[in-house]
Amino acid sequence: MEQENNNLNEEKKDPLVEIIDPLLEWFEQNKRSFPWREVQQPYHVWISEIMLQQTRIEAVIEHYNRFMQELPDIGSLSRVSEERLLKLWEGLGYYSRAKNLKKAAQVIMEQYDGQMPRTYEQLITLAGIGEYTAGAIASFCFGEKVPAVDGNVLRVLARLTGDRENVLLPQTKKAAAARLRSIMPEQAGAFNEAIMELGETVCLPGGVPKCDICPLKGQCTAYRESLTAELPVRIKVMKRKTVHKTIFLLCSEDNRIAIEKRQDKGLLAGMYQLPNTDRSLSPDQADVHLREWGIEAEKGEYLGEAKHMFTHIDWIMRGYRFCIRQKNDRFIWVTKDELERAYALPTAFRVFLNRW
Ligand code: SF4
Repeated sequence: MEQENNNLNEEKKDPLVEIIDPLLEWFEQNKRSFPWREVQQPYHVWISEIMLQQTRIEAVIEHYNRFMQELPDIGSLSRVSEERLLKLWEGLGYYSRAKNLKKAAQVIMEQYDGQMPRTYEQLITLAGIGEYTAGAIASFCFGEKVPAVDGNVLRVLARLTGDRENVLLPQTKKAAAARLRSIMPEQAGAFNEAIMELGETVCLPGGVPKCDICPLKGQCTAYRESLTAELPVRIKVMKRKTVHKTIFLLCSEDNRIAIEKRQDKGLLAGMYQLPNTDRSLSPDQADVHLREWGIEAEKGEYLGEAKHMFTHIDWIMRGYRFCIRQKNDRFIWVTKDELERAYALPTAFRVFLNRW
């Protein structure tokens, strides 16, 4: 009878458990060194994980170091002015994330005595902390056996298991999290980090994973069946919106340009922008528009077209440069140094700054 039960347990064992040992061993030998890994403190992991969403690691390191130098702990983050916070976040995009960091820091100061909450259930109640980030902090820093499923993890898992479900659907993510949770080893943090690391350095997106050096090729369905180019399945269901804009680079004789503050709500809320309109203007129309702002200028110079992609919106921007005769009070007129030091200007507008 005992023999039968043992056989039954063997049969029920998820084959995915076979990846645990080789993956952990590989991670131990191959993990990259990052500033936030050196300390593995919850605050550091939190900030780095939020920065890493949608941004490449190389680009994050500099921002992370600057951020940590100025806001080294939860207390300083909870007290920072929004203006300064957005400046520190400049270039990372998704500015609502920075605002959520501050909101969450304030709650941690008030409700958790300034200490990062230790459980997934508590973490996920904080502003801007979703399932992935809660899982990452809880497992990396506090050893809780919860998964942290991001795009890298979904890709690795789809290839390992040969799963053809659309990884962009929430139910696919949910199923992946449930499966990982069911096999989660004691070293939950290292296990989660290891899958992500494998996805970032070996099991690369597109048809170019480095299967030859992968520690899991013996367990991988996509490798065995030559499916790496087909998996994971990604079918976008979201309809994107396109907005045509005209951007004005208004230059004064004393080498300043015009900027203005955006509204407090909506896309890029509270940041600064170059003067612009939500229409694509011809050179003549741009001249007229400028006069409507009460600005006299030499004939404008067309700077060409640029595209910037946000999550659901694409901006198609035409740029014009005008040498203006006199500054007016409608805009803030800044030097290069002032702009870099004190005003958060989103990346979308920066494409035209090289013509300043
Ligand atoms: S064998 Fe190739 S496809 Fe499979 S997990 Fe490794 S890198 Fe990815």
